[in-house]
This record gives sequence, C-alpha cells and structure tokens, in this order.
Amino acid sequence: MPASSSRSPSAAPLAPNAVIGIVGGGQLGRMSAVAAAKLGFRAHILTQDPHGPAAQVAHQVTLGAYDDHKALDAFARAVDVITFEFENISADALDCLAQHCPVRPSGAILRTSQDRLAEKTFLSDAGIPLAPWMAVTNHASLHAAAETLGFPFILKTTRNGYDGKGQARVYEASQLEEAFASLAPHPLVAEGMVDFACEISVMVVRGTDGTTRCFAPGLNYHRDGILDLTLAPAPVQEETAQQAQALATAIAEKLDLIGILGVEMFIDRTGTLLVNEIAPRPHNSGHWTMDACPADQFDMHIRAVAGLPLPPALRHSDAAMKNLVGPDDIALWPDILATPGHIPHLYGKAEARAGRKMGHVNILFPYGSLPGALGIQDALGPLADKPETEDNDH
Ligand code: AMP
Repeated sequence: MPASSSRSPSAAPLAPNAVIGIVGGGQLGRMSAVAAAKLGFRAHILTQDPHGPAAQVAHQVTLGAYDDHKALDAFARAVDVITFEFENISADALDCLAQHCPVRPSGAILRTSQDRLAEKTFLSDAGIPLAPWMAVTNHASLHAAAETLGFPFILKTTRNGYDGKGQARVYEASQLEEAFASLAPHPLVAEGMVDFACEISVMVVRGTDGTTRCFAPGLNYHRDGILDLTLAPAPVQEETAQQAQALATAIAEKLDLIGILGVEMFIDRTGTLLVNEIAPRPHNSGHWTMDACPADQFDMHIRAVAGLPLPPALRHSDAAMKNLVGPDDIALWPDILATPGHIPHLYGKAEARAGRKMGHVNILFPYGSLPGALGIQDALGPLADKPETEDNDH
C-alpha cells in the first residue's frame, strides 16, 4: 500500500515513492514501469500473467482479469494514479477505477479510441482530416458505401482491430458480401483506400497543466501488417512535419488528454496529411525516443500521469528503430549483440511465436544525418532486408 502521505490531490504532482498503477502486463507496461522507477515511483501492474514483461520489472502485481471487479478494486486501492498500456480493457472498468484515484488518460478517451466509429466521428467533428469514411451497419449501408467511396475501399471492424487484423480490402462489387460476412460482428467502418506516399506517426503528450509536447514524426514501414521499422525524424518537408505535430496537438487538446497519445497518419501523393488512427498510450512507433531523446515517450507519459512538468520533447540524435518479431528475428540475437551501434531492448517474453513482438533495436545517427534507404539497410547489418532470391519468391 502506498504511504498515505504520497496520495496527492488530483492536480498536484505525485511525490517520490508514490505508486503508479498500470493496467496491462505487456512490453509497453514494462517500459512504462522502468520509466516510473527512474523517476522514483513504484509501478503496480494489473495483469493475468505473473511472469509477463511488465510483472518482471514491477514493484507489485495484482493478478486478475480486467473485468474482475474484486481485483480491480484491490488494485485501485493500492495505487495513487492509474494508467493503461493497451486498449482492450473496458472503458466502464476504467470509470469504476476513477472513483478511487485519477485515471490518465481517462476512460472517456479510451472509449473513443477503442471504437473506430466513435474515433472517426470525434476526429471528423474536430475538423481533423481523414480518409473518406462511412459507417456500415447492414447490406444497404454496405452498398451505399461502395457507391460513395468507389472501389477499392477497406472495410474495418469497429473494435479489436490491430496490426492489420479485422480488415478486408474490397476491389470489386462481387467481393462485397463476402467481405461484409467475414468481418462480423458488425457494425463496420468503410474507408476510401488512400494511395499514400508514406505512413508517419507523431507521439504527443499532455500534462495536467495543459502543456503539450510533440516528438518529431517518425516514418513507419510495416511487414505482414506489423510495424517493422521506424525512421526518425521522418524525411518529410519541414512544413509537413509541423502540420503533423499541429494535428496531433489539436487532437490531444480536444480530447483533454493527460498522458501520451500516438497519432498515425498517411501522407498522400499530394502531400496532404490524413489521420488514420489514434492510440492513447505509448506506441511502438515511439520506441526510437528511448535512445535518441533525453526524455523518451515513457518518461514523458509517466511524468504526465504523475502530474510532473513536461520537458521539451527534444532529440539529440536521429534514429532507426527495428522491431524484433517472432523466432526468426530472435535467432539473430547473438549477431545483434555483436553489432556495434545496435542498442537492443528485449521484452522478456518466454516464447517467440510467429508475429509476436519480442523486442526492438535502436540505431542512432548524429542529429540531422539520418541516412537514406541504402544507408539504413547498411546500418541494420544482420537485420537488413534479405535480398530476394528465387527461393524466397515462392
Ligand atoms: P489500421 O489497422 O487502420 O492501422 O491499418 C493497418 C494498415 O493498413 C495501415 O498501417 C495501412 O498500411 C493500411 N491502411 C489502413 N487504412 C487504409 C486506407 N484507408 N488506405 C490505405 N491503406 C490503409
């Protein structure tokens, strides 16, 4: 239990040794818990896995399901403030927790971000540019969406979609019904297919005093629907980078955010920014900040959640962040450790299953000298893309 002296009124900063409750036991919780420890706080994790990435580094763990009211209650009574590291918890449960102590970001923000329809409605109402979209609730609205958006378009589930799951691309009318049926339960969102030049993301953090800080946008590459590589700063025009940061800041302010938020965006062929989705938590595409910035995304998030001042989101280096996914990447671990300049981060997961994020590697470059594609592949060493051969063509 925290010392009662460390429990602060919601607007006051938490005192050293206060307890930060983190809902979720994965790698984002692990890196948040380490950041909390660096700032003199104790992390208390609510998770079902006593051996998971976050539990391994935390001060205390409450074992329980995220809908286990007894566990939630015990957890909330033992902490000074609560945050969450993933979005598949019920916003109602967060609202219950908020009766005991501040929950940052709030359940209301989670409710918006975990439902694509609510998210798009919120962003559209806030004047944020999005790809054209329509709600699809039945066959009539499915056909109306095809008519309005034209082919190709993308159907997405409103909930629980991640890493490209819960989506179907529809190229022609004959695919409509099958795509619709494959994505139950409905409703769905239909989105015009963006012919994007690239995908970027911005991490924005907002403190209890309303201060916002934005890291430089990162350029994201995906493989099999999973983030593979982030380059920071994204090699885009300065004006575009500033617009991206302004959009992220506007979203954070409109949400009345406390904590960190990842904002994923497309840049289309005309250079226009379109927001794809938001995530009110630390984000994989922000991991480059861990080695390239004096205060990284996790430090910033914990500072915001704890009501501490937010330093500027400076970076001292440019960076490439490469994800280690599944058994093939983990097999390269000895080579990674032997490669000068590779800064490894492992998440402590016992089993390397296909598609599972096991860790990441950051590679730094002097400020302002991020190399182009070839230079990046060179710097990736053992993690460079394998040249295509006849064998891996099949
Ligand atoms: P999401 O789950 O919405 O982040 O989508 C996963 C990936 O699918 C994105 O990172 C894009 O590469 C792609 N994608 C999603 N929506 C669109 C769209 N409207 N147009 C083109 N590509 C998209």
